[in-house]
Amino acid sequence: MFVTESNDHYPVIIIGSGPAGMSVASELVGKHGVQSILLLESGDLTYDAELNELSEVTASGDLPASHYAIHAIRAFGGTSLVCAGLCGVLEPMSFDNGEWPFSRETLLPFYERAISILELPANSVVDDVAPINSDSFINYRPVDLSKPVKFGEKYLQFARESSKLDVMLRATVSRIDHDGSAVKGVTLATGRSIRADKVVLACGGVGNPRLLLQSGLDAGRLSLSASVSEISGGLPVGG
Ligand SMILES: Cc1cc2nc3c(=O)[nH]c(=O)nc-3n(C[C@H](O)[C@H](O)[C@H](O)COP(=O)(O)OP(=O)(O)OC[C@H]3O[C@@H](n4cnc5c(N)ncnc54)[C@H](O)[C@@H]3O)c2cc1C
Repeated sequence: MFVTESNDHYPVIIIGSGPAGMSVASELVGKHGVQSILLLESGDLTYDAELNELSEVTASGDLPASHYAIHAIRAFGGTSLVCAGLCGVLEPMSFDNGEWPFSRETLLPFYERAISILELPANSVVDDVAPINSDSFINYRPVDLSKPVKFGEKYLQFARESSKLDVMLRATVSRIDHDGSAVKGVTLATGRSIRADKVVLACGGVGNPRLLLQSGLDAGRLSLSASVSEISGGLPVGG
């Protein structure tokens, strides 16, 4: 349910209500029976230009600073509000430099679950390449088009009605609290601190590293969970 005040402690706090945050919230409640989650969303139920200024960055390089804010939407449902819905699997070459903490094979089973979340046809994950025409040696990897799914619409009823999920809007997290080895909770821009056993960072491609850096954290310093099973492990669950 939507709340304006939170408890002092939650088993799980999710930061961000985009595709990442809402998918994790839905699976933790629906499939893993987690009893109490706080979801903190910086934006409001609908897009608000003033709130979106929080996504502005100082940029150097080819892209102007204005590029980043219009690609990081601060609203319930996150950037899915403007997402075009093109869906495809990552190319093998994306993993060539070893920059991901997992292999392409580790990722493949998760595409099946993404299909249902993105409401794609069952045979959507196309892992084949096809020639662009019958006598061409140039191949392309087909992509699928989701509806596109607006996560703010898809999960609005869930967010309104679930007694296990507290959703707080206009709640910007300014710091992840930790003692150097474990996360302890979060602090909001208002200064209020909320304790948590686990914190799920789902603030998007710029928002996540920004919050980690603001918190004096880097991925090497804490053990990072990658799956909802790991997040729900050890938490009190129910029907
Ligand atoms: C114009 C456009 C078209 C696109 N088209 C496609 C496409 O066709 N196919 C595709 O795969 N992808 C597309 N994308 C990208 C896609 O929308 C994103 O990859 C996706 O939304 C990322 O989901 P996310 O949950 O990680 O982050 P986001 O959707 O960005 O959600 C992050 C949420 O975290 C909140 N937040 C951020 N910081 C804080 C904080 N400190 N405290 C509290 N809350 C915070 C934000 O308000 C936001 O709601 C497109 C993007 C744009 C801009």
